[in-house]
Amino acid sequence: MADKIAFQADVSKMLDIVINSLYSEKQIFLRELISNASDACDKLKYLALTNPDIAKKSGAFKIVITPSAKEKTLIIADNGIGMSKDDLITHLGTIAKSGTADFVKNASDNGSVCELIGQFGVGFYSAFMVAERVEILTKRADESKAWKWVSNGIDGFEISEAEKQSNGTEIKLFLKKGEENYVDTIYLRQIIRTYSDHIDYPIVLDLGEAGEETINKGSALWMKNKAEITTDQYKDFYQHISHNFDDPWMTLHFKAEGNIEYSGLLFIPGKAPYDLFQPDKKNSIKLYINKVFISDKIEQLMPNYLRFVKGVIDSADLPLNISREMLQNSPLMEKIKAGTVNRILKELKKRSKNYDDYMEFWKSFGIVLKEGIYEDFKNREEIAAISYFYSTADMEKLTNLDEYIGRCNKEQKAIYYITGDDINILRNSPQLEAFKQKGIEVLLMNEPIDEFWPQVLPSYKNFAIKHISQADIDMTWKRDEKKADDGSLKQLTEFMAEFLKEDVAKVVTTEKLTASPVSITVENGQMSLHLERLMRNHQQQTAFASTRILELNPYHPLIIRLADMVMVDTNAEKVKEISRILLDQAKVAEGEPISDPSFYSERISGYILKSLD
Ligand code: ADP
Ligand code: MG
Repeated sequence: MADKIAFQADVSKMLDIVINSLYSEKQIFLRELISNASDACDKLKYLALTNPDIAKKSGAFKIVITPSAKEKTLIIADNGIGMSKDDLITHLGTIAKSGTADFVKNASDNGSVCELIGQFGVGFYSAFMVAERVEILTKRADESKAWKWVSNGIDGFEISEAEKQSNGTEIKLFLKKGEENYVDTIYLRQIIRTYSDHIDYPIVLDLGEAGEETINKGSALWMKNKAEITTDQYKDFYQHISHNFDDPWMTLHFKAEGNIEYSGLLFIPGKAPYDLFQPDKKNSIKLYINKVFISDKIEQLMPNYLRFVKGVIDSADLPLNISREMLQNSPLMEKIKAGTVNRILKELKKRSKNYDDYMEFWKSFGIVLKEGIYEDFKNREEIAAISYFYSTADMEKLTNLDEYIGRCNKEQKAIYYITGDDINILRNSPQLEAFKQKGIEVLLMNEPIDEFWPQVLPSYKNFAIKHISQADIDMTWKRDEKKADDGSLKQLTEFMAEFLKEDVAKVVTTEKLTASPVSITVENGQMSLHLERLMRNHQQQTAFASTRILELNPYHPLIIRLADMVMVDTNAEKVKEISRILLDQAKVAEGEPISDPSFYSERISGYILKSLD
């Protein structure tokens, strides 16, 4: 009796995309199935460590590929851990991982299904790109029953009890019309060499009467000598481990010696993965103990801000016979992590010497790396040193803190920055006018994390890091322009403060502005307007708002005129209208929403029309 089980809705949707889209690299299905077979062998190897009975049974691991030209089928078989009935139902039909829904969304947006399949951990389903029917025969190493799973990849699947003596899994693909070339041994050999050469178990092609042929070179690449490894081999291994198609931007292969010995082969991808900002994005480091795969879920291996690093760490010094949880908390793990992070940061520092090269990395991962300034107490200075920012000093190129310091004049003791949503709005912020006037460079920061890291890094190489609203430099300079007279200015600020009291706490005059008549800012020490907007967007804080201050430029002709007007009672309505428009203008320049856009645009249109007369 077979159980008929429907696919979970998400799986159905995903399969629909996988089956119905056209793509050029369908052959990756084989990479994914071989990768699962290899994982299954890894898992059994691990289980055998603590289970002597299983250790006895688990012989030499291998993955066998059997094509049949007559039947138009392809079988991928392994002698790994196998699957129980429950395993089949939960792993191949429902998906617990939150990744599936994202996969569906990304695939509909981008259409690059192949690239996404491995990354979202839905590799198995790629079998349906070439197969109209998939049959799985499997037996778990620690169970006595075997199971058969059959599906056409559309409605659902059937499970029934089956006959199988040895542990492991056989996946039989009934190839679709037009996909029969996957029985061609020359083609299969080529695909396996391209995508799966580094699998650590022999991948054997069953040639029927001609016997068996092992296709892959299969060795733990990370244990080899650097000098023996070609760039292409590194690249293949990277693609295998990351399920990516690009070239790695960085390859870091090292052996650490000292009181704890370990090797690492780590990569930084050429571009950001789709799930870089998923809250449950796991780090992608595989931990091995002397070539035995232990886990790819050890959180202690890589800090969050390096979650884009992929690769392998292998240490013979870790205890093999303790649980993953114990391993997780082992102090050795902390040491390995600290050492590895050091190496990565050092290498990044080196690469940062070449600006164009480094920017390729920075544009994809800089925003994540910067989280490290906040997170990693020990390395925050090092991370700050390899972080890049927009600046008033250069329109195109980004700059770093050391270059900034190099450009400072002798008196300057601080690194100034401004935060906001958009670099172009920031560049033209009225708040920068005095700095420009005085020739003081300001860093322009537009990412959420930029609101946070300066709080934990108050200075860099003895230069205070300061938001421009906290600048304690004298912002006045000798000006020979005409200025509104003090008496009428006082009256104007009082008048505007009263009229705009719903929107701003204070109206003051400032010496900081040159081109703009007005500017909006917050009380010293309060949350910046940018941070406030961020909080509002994330519904973190609705109640609290910083105290807003409207600043007037007493040298601006508009303010001079307005100060004159306010002295005459009959002008009150006009001054009110203009005050409101000026406040809106200040908000726009800051990237703040304005309270009544239609009022604003109607008035502005009115004034434009008048100026055309
Ligand atoms: P992932 O490999 O990222 O987990 P897949 O879609 O490739 O995603 O596979 C889903 C799950 O199915 C695996 O995690 C594993 O539990 C199970 N599985 C697939 N193939 C095999 C196999 N050959 N042997 C044992 N389990 C397997
Ligand atoms: Mg897989």
